[in-house]
Amino acid sequence: MQADLLVHNAGQLITIASDGPQSGREMGRLGICHDGAVAVRDGYIVKVGASSELRSEVKAQRVIDALGRVVMPGFIDPHTHLVFVGSRVNEFEMRLSGATYLDIMAAGGGIMSTVRAVRGASDEELLAQSRARADDMLAQGTTMAEVKTGYGLTTADEMKCLRVIQHLDRTHPMDLIPTFLGAHAVPEEYRGRADDYTELVIQEMLPAVAAQRGLACFCDVFCDDGAFTLNQARKILVAAEALGLGLKIHADEFAALGAAKMAAEIGAVSADHLIRTPREEMGSLADSGTVAVLLPGTPFGLGEREFARAQDWLEAGVAVALATDLNPGTCYCGSMPFIIALGCRYLGLMPAQAVVAATLNAAYAIGQESRVGSLEPGKVADLIVLNTDDYRDLAYRFGGNLVATVIKAGKVVVKG
Ligand SMILES: [Zn+2]
Repeated sequence: MQADLLVHNAGQLITIASDGPQSGREMGRLGICHDGAVAVRDGYIVKVGASSELRSEVKAQRVIDALGRVVMPGFIDPHTHLVFVGSRVNEFEMRLSGATYLDIMAAGGGIMSTVRAVRGASDEELLAQSRARADDMLAQGTTMAEVKTGYGLTTADEMKCLRVIQHLDRTHPMDLIPTFLGAHAVPEEYRGRADDYTELVIQEMLPAVAAQRGLACFCDVFCDDGAFTLNQARKILVAAEALGLGLKIHADEFAALGAAKMAAEIGAVSADHLIRTPREEMGSLADSGTVAVLLPGTPFGLGEREFARAQDWLEAGVAVALATDLNPGTCYCGSMPFIIALGCRYLGLMPAQAVVAATLNAAYAIGQESRVGSLEPGKVADLIVLNTDDYRDLAYRFGGNLVATVIKAGKVVVKG
């Protein structure tokens, strides 16, 4: 068999080969192949198996010796706000010295301060600052990320953010999956008129977004206290679905409004955050196949103590994914390994479950499971080599970078 690339001698080849998303008590099946190998042709995986077998069967132009280390699928980050400009470090320092959310708002902080910065930025500035963060994510093993708008909040500025996501996707090794989040916050010019802003999203923004094929794959709404109500969120998502967009929702982060349950009812691909979802509402996501995307970096970033309860979700039969929530306000972190480390300490995940949550289940959370998320013939050859022979080090060790090599669609894009 001819191949462009053979990666062999993997002490642990983590394939995560699965028929569907992993959920319930069964979650955490890594499909480990000891002394495994992967062959790649034209950017796709063509064969996975024992090193001895592939070395004799495959004639490859390039061979990478993994030296007994871990080889696994690249991380998939299914919830980020990657595209923004500026910093909210002042706000972070105010919070550390005891300022409340209202104090910060009064000082011009919060989401609207990033919105003002993004509205004032050119495409080029937005692209340059976002690209630097994308480079950092790739270096830490993320080969695909979902990216939301939501710092424009006018039709023109939301379209600008979508253009930047599209341009970055085309010019950066990391694949980006775009989500329209026009309902991230009620902008200050609509203060007290959230219903009017909801109508603007439905009547003007959504049709503009949907008119350009591929500009957005999903529509998301921040449904919570101080953001959009359950009714407003439902109206927006129903309108988005009619235009052909997939659905996502920020649910139950600060208050249990029934948003996760509503997401299940309307067939959302994922519901995200889910810190305060009541136990009796969890099963609805199992019924609808909605993935629970948990974001432990956000309460950590805010210095809070309450986290989502992963084992409750798993007991309810729901597939759990992990994401960074990379954003300038509550979680300026693009590292999936760090999120895995947090997930094991604060969400109650085992290392094998956290690895599945950051790869296969994350692919399901953004509708990309047919292309990525596991090492199986026919999938895109997005894989990483770790500087360790034990995958559990991803959870055990933190604060450094265990990712030695990143291979995107069969090409080495990061060599540590
Ligand atoms: Zn978010």
